[in-house]
Amino acid sequence: MERLIILRYSEIHLKGANRGFFERALYDNTVRAINSTKATVDKGGARYIVKDYNVVDEKKLISKLTKVFGFNWLSVALCVDNSVDSILDAVKEFKIPNGTFRVTTRRADKDFPIHSNELSARIGEIVLKNNPNTKVKLENFDKELTVDIRENGKTYLYLNSIKCVGGMPTGSAGKAICLLSGGIDSPVAAYKIAKRGAKIYGIHFHSYPYTSERAKQKVIDLAKVLAQYCGDFKLYFVSFTKVQEEIHKKCNSKFMITIMRRIMMRITEKLAYKLKCKAIVTGESLGQVASQTMEGIISSNSVVSLPVYRPLIGDDKNDIIDVAKEIGTFDISILPYEDCCTVFLPRNPIIKPRLESVLIEESKINVDELVKECLQNIEIIQIKA
Ligand code: ATP
Ligand code: MG
Repeated sequence: MERLIILRYSEIHLKGANRGFFERALYDNTVRAINSTKATVDKGGARYIVKDYNVVDEKKLISKLTKVFGFNWLSVALCVDNSVDSILDAVKEFKIPNGTFRVTTRRADKDFPIHSNELSARIGEIVLKNNPNTKVKLENFDKELTVDIRENGKTYLYLNSIKCVGGMPTGSAGKAICLLSGGIDSPVAAYKIAKRGAKIYGIHFHSYPYTSERAKQKVIDLAKVLAQYCGDFKLYFVSFTKVQEEIHKKCNSKFMITIMRRIMMRITEKLAYKLKCKAIVTGESLGQVASQTMEGIISSNSVVSLPVYRPLIGDDKNDIIDVAKEIGTFDISILPYEDCCTVFLPRNPIIKPRLESVLIEESKINVDELVKECLQNIEIIQIKA
């Protein structure tokens, strides 16, 4: 009798001729997720099986596998040969909690000698005998014991299913670069786009020495949480100090954030082209702060030609916070820190910047030169899951 983990996908089912491409990506990502254990992965259609592991690693494996984009459910199962005696023996291993249960038998192996309903009834009797405070209930039951008799000669028995993150396999959707601050929103935005299968890169702008090493570490810590889901990725740290000093010195302070955003977007796009990314991701949410009005977004959007994905654009802050808590970035995001946007923060930033005024202010600095300098001074940090 072998213990193993069965994983199932759902959305990949909807794929046609290219389903194999998504399945292979999911397989590769699963192999990567478990590579610190001695487990192996088998792939058979919509089911992936992780086995050959040390039982002490099971919890760790579950924690890792529930975060692999593409899977919707997993179950820890017992595996036996397709024989009635072996199956009935395995049933004795299950402790069913007090309450109601049903047995669901699926018989893909049509040579198996007993029909599904009859086997379910025999299994039910054993469960009732070994777990006296349980009752059979075919609908609205508390627990379901599934017995899956496969054509490959193996039967899988499992009691519980654990929800996984869902989404599409990392790498299946191409590459995107995410503007990652140390705040609550942008890690959630990065997560959402990564969840749809994008391989992500992160870019962070800092104003050292106005911003501290600790602020930088915070972004690295956030990126490490993201990497638990989307795998290792590269984080680009850009020194933004000179840009801010120039704007501060030469432009109307009301336009500080507006011009900063435009320069951030230009730098990000240049890097995006180099990395062959097809999209830029931000954590903007409509109307959340002064720079996220429709006019603010026109202003920052108009300097780039790559699509900008804003997965949080219609989300309320509370909904964003819920996701941040669920994925584990919230507690890091709320640590006190300085962001480059809080340095030289104007007292009254312009809320609805008119593009013509922005252009006049921006013409007072040498944007191209500043962008070029920033791109020459990038520090790359490899983030490991
Ligand atoms: P967040 O919580 O993501 O910081 P926010 O609500 O604080 O968002 P802003 O400060 O207006 O919003 O930033 C809007 C978006 O611009 C962020 O979601 C992020 O994508 C990007 N951004 C802001 N500051 C930085 C930074 N220092 N480095 C990289 N990207 C940034
Ligand atoms: Mg911010």
